[in-house]
Amino acid sequence: MVIILKNTAAPQQVGELIRWLEDSCKVKTNLVEGVHSTIIGLIGDTLHMDTEAIMANDCVESVQRVQEPYKNANRKFHPDDTVIDVCSRKIGGNKTQIIAGPCSVESEKQLMETAIACKQAGATMLRGGAFKPRTSPYSFQGLREEGIKLLLKAKKETGLPVVTEIMSLAHMDMFTDVDVIQVGARNMQNFELLKELGRCDKPVLLKRGLSSTLEELLMSAEYIMSEGNSKVILCERGIRTFETMTRNTLDISAVALLKQRSHLPVVVDPSHATGLVKLVEPMSLAAVAAGCDGLEIEVHCDPKSALSDGAQQLTPKAFCGVMEKIKALAGFMGKDVDEA
Ligand code: PEP
Ligand code: MN
Repeated sequence: MVIILKNTAAPQQVGELIRWLEDSCKVKTNLVEGVHSTIIGLIGDTLHMDTEAIMANDCVESVQRVQEPYKNANRKFHPDDTVIDVCSRKIGGNKTQIIAGPCSVESEKQLMETAIACKQAGATMLRGGAFKPRTSPYSFQGLREEGIKLLLKAKKETGLPVVTEIMSLAHMDMFTDVDVIQVGARNMQNFELLKELGRCDKPVLLKRGLSSTLEELLMSAEYIMSEGNSKVILCERGIRTFETMTRNTLDISAVALLKQRSHLPVVVDPSHATGLVKLVEPMSLAAVAAGCDGLEIEVHCDPKSALSDGAQQLTPKAFCGVMEKIKALAGFMGKDVDEA
């Protein structure tokens, strides 16, 4: 961290600031007096230091961090890719996982039919929302606990591990047998929920918030990891921009950038990113080409009767076609679509 001092800083103020930094903040300082400006370089663990508190000193012009504020998620301190085990399927490294299934769990028949079709097409995990974050309180809210029970039944039937979204701390107990807990875009900065997930031992699929920066996404991962749970999977699911032809704008550069800045696996959700069934294939392929470690794709046995997100859910037949192309491109990228 570097503190830039005001030209008007009096030597006595600077002396007091340095004493405060060394005695109270426990960092070493290095005062550099230049021709046009004077700076103080801080050496030591500055992660916990509050830049606002430093700015509160009258003699300070600005404060700049030279290190990223996320440590656990940072590739600098963990050069190797993190590989997360989900029921012996690996996510990260040279594997590509395809998480497929309906937007919402609607009924036993709908889920079983869709799950079996997804498995036959080559999906490696099953998704399905039991608790649904809907813009309108009048829209279908999910089958809740019953939905989780049906997902576990579908897991028994297909062998596919299940990924489903948690919306409240109060529901933690219902997720005991879920394989991957999803934190949806709207809860990316629900810090109490993130901390609680940090204290459990389950993989967490953390989706990027609708208007969140990549640094904010990584800081949310940091919330989970700093509590002890290092099994975090990042998910790019599109961000809100001025464009209206797509539901969101898929930030493909986020995939490559997150892979550079962090060792955590990165998954892309082309369904929520675009909202359009016709864009799911091209965006899935773009994501694989950008180096993602997995895709989360919405598939429904009968999209026109879906209780949520009908316009973006693939039919099992369309999903089969997309899977073939994903497998071919993943192979070219040196990745396996893991079926084991
Ligand atoms: C979902 O995956 O079901 C979902 C609601 O996605 P997001 O949080 O990305 O909107
Ligand atoms: Mn959906």
